[in-house]
Amino acid sequence: MDRKLLKLPFSPDSSPDWICPTCSKGLLRIKENSFIHEEARHSREAHDHPAWEPEWIRSIYTCLLICSNEKCREVVASSGTGSVDWDIIEDEYGQQDQVYSDFFIPKFFEPHLNIFPIPKDCPASVVALLNESFKLFFSSPSAAANNVRAAIEELLTELKIKRFTTANGKRRFISLHQRIGLLPAKYAQFKDMILAIKWLGNAGSHGHGEVTADDVMDSYELIEHILQEIYEPKVKKLKALAKKVNKKKGPA
Ligand SMILES: [Zn+2]
Repeated sequence: MDRKLLKLPFSPDSSPDWICPTCSKGLLRIKENSFIHEEARHSREAHDHPAWEPEWIRSIYTCLLICSNEKCREVVASSGTGSVDWDIIEDEYGQQDQVYSDFFIPKFFEPHLNIFPIPKDCPASVVALLNESFKLFFSSPSAAANNVRAAIEELLTELKIKRFTTANGKRRFISLHQRIGLLPAKYAQFKDMILAIKWLGNAGSHGHGEVTADDVMDSYELIEHILQEIYEPKVKKLKALAKKVNKKKGPA
């Protein structure tokens, strides 16, 4: 996961290397003449303030992105917010000058970006919640973290960890914390990671402090590792390959 790519502001002259969500191979490039931005009303009105500085400028952008893969050429829409930042440049006579440039932060992509690759054997119920999280990642990190937590609940159900107990004919839901405790020994290595995802997701749903993009990326890294180990384990793949080669006593 390229964290800088996902959280740093960009300049339209050099669009970031966002990966195409459809072919997962090409890079998204801003379609010529499609990038537009306008200053927001509150920002325009602030120009009259005696202390006004260009750093106060806030704008809204929209653009189309096209996949660089000739066989794909998928089109993606993006919108978000902009601001200005300054740099010091030196002219040919060594005179320093302050120049302002526009920078933008995406809040939305349609279709949404795939922030990390999900193993193809991952259950559909887990995939659906991760996709929901990817949709919300740029606009609402707390909602995105909450969806990763929900994906973990679904994963535990897929791993046959019971969701409720029945006492006196009444069903009682078991808390996520208790369900983590019920994981069998072969999944014990994931307990702490799942617990961490739970805390990050809880912060998202109960408003305990602000959930940042980095917090969400932390839970993405944890769940990506868990899903890979369960649904696409390297050791299992390599063992199967070795078995095939050895059986044939030659290339598999
Ligand atoms: Zn593509």
